[in-house]
Amino acid sequence: MEPEEYRQRGKEMVDYICQYLSNVRERRVTPDVQPGYMRAQLPDSAPMDPDSWDNIFGDIEKIIMPGVVHWQSPHMHAYFPALTSWPSLLGDMLADAINCLGFTWASSPACTELEMNVMDWLAKMLGLPDKFLHHHPDSVGGGVLQSTVSESTLVALLAARKNKILEMKLSEPDADESLLNSRLIAYASDQAHSSVEKAGLISLVKMKFLPVDENFSLRGETLKKAIAEDRKKGLVPIFVCATLGTTGVCAFDNLSELGPICDAEGLWLHIDAAYAGTAFVCPEFRLFLDGIEYADSFTFNPSKWMMVHFDCTGFWVKDKYKLHQTFSVNPVYLRHPNSGAAVDFMHWQIPLSRRFRSLKLWFVIRSFGVKKLQAHIRHVSKFFESLVESDPLFEIPAKRHLGLVVFRLKGPNWLTEKLLKELSSSGKLFLVPAAIHDKFIIRFTVTSQFTTREDILKINSFLPSPPREQFIAFSVTVFCSSMSNLVLLYPQGSNYVSITRHYTS
Ligand code: PLP
Repeated sequence: MEPEEYRQRGKEMVDYICQYLSNVRERRVTPDVQPGYMRAQLPDSAPMDPDSWDNIFGDIEKIIMPGVVHWQSPHMHAYFPALTSWPSLLGDMLADAINCLGFTWASSPACTELEMNVMDWLAKMLGLPDKFLHHHPDSVGGGVLQSTVSESTLVALLAARKNKILEMKLSEPDADESLLNSRLIAYASDQAHSSVEKAGLISLVKMKFLPVDENFSLRGETLKKAIAEDRKKGLVPIFVCATLGTTGVCAFDNLSELGPICDAEGLWLHIDAAYAGTAFVCPEFRLFLDGIEYADSFTFNPSKWMMVHFDCTGFWVKDKYKLHQTFSVNPVYLRHPNSGAAVDFMHWQIPLSRRFRSLKLWFVIRSFGVKKLQAHIRHVSKFFESLVESDPLFEIPAKRHLGLVVFRLKGPNWLTEKLLKELSSSGKLFLVPAAIHDKFIIRFTVTSQFTTREDILKINSFLPSPPREQFIAFSVTVFCSSMSNLVLLYPQGSNYVSITRHYTS
């Protein structure tokens, strides 16, 4: 492809993307395909000769789109949001064209410097402590963009492990590091994300999952007891991963209790706020950050709720030298005249190469401004817990926080299982289940900033008619800026009678 054709095809692609995202609500959210669906549509091997762009472009709708789950659909209510936005897309368009690999300052100074400045902006937007800033006289910390929260948590655990092993070496200089490693233990709540377990598997650090209280929150006393028991067994506690906004029910561990214990016991306190972190842009949600002053590291995904598309994960540390001592390798070909004086992010992460991710973050923050980002978060936080709660057919087995509501039909699990199956069968709505103890629940997240009252009302027609099941079916949801809707469908004869309730928030 020559530049002139790229110019033309690029414009066509932008038109296609605009059209796709503007009309995504018309597509079924989940595809109707079986594993291997693509095999018959593609040749066995790569073409020897160039294919025309018309052919390639035509295959997007023919081969790709039929197998896509449309995460940007207003009817996507599964998992957590993975939002994008126009400025974010433009940021990556430019980053992809520049395609620098900013592993050191010298490998592309703008890549490192924009990231440092934007990570400081973001830390201030969230109300994080000064110790996490690059540009602050009392700070030896700073923020960096990682690919995922999973990777950030692994990085934090590896840094905590290295630090403790170096400490242990002071009193046991001849001990083998792998033997010291085998005595280490880390903690998280039994609601923590599976990435915490994975970090333990990779680092060979034992990971203990501790029980939570009635609000699904890890409390100080539980941690204290576990540490004491493990020390008695000769183990060395090193790390706690506290979750702010758990995946199952969006619960919050109690930082103000966990923090002082980690401080007194010499444990690295890492905070996983993957989804909920974005909410801290609004000061009214920062009560969950009480105790953040004790944190050694903090991570969240702007790529979930902040409309910066994947991948983009903020990770801040209080002491960058603890990352350096874990990840520094210094081959001659990566040294540069400013080594040591400038920040080289290759020492803050596992891979060497890194994308220019801060461009899209910078574009989003500047294009929306803090006030509009706050409005976006507040928009989805006024929500429908009270609606479901007020209906005797349903229960909310965990307190609603932010944009995640979990609910179930009262009674045995099979009722809710059937309900979920029924709601999902049309492909026009995507919800996923979770479990709280022995209860089967449905997670309902508002993922799209474009969910409107009309989208919600349309959900009526997604349900199978006539109904196959005898139990009460529940259709969905929530709000536009000031209005919430709940549509309940009651079986009557061979049809449903729908009752739509409007709630002004
Ligand atoms: N931690 C929590 C609490 C999550 O909810 C998730 C995903 O939703 C993750 C970690 C994993 O995030 P990532 O995909 O960025 O690794």
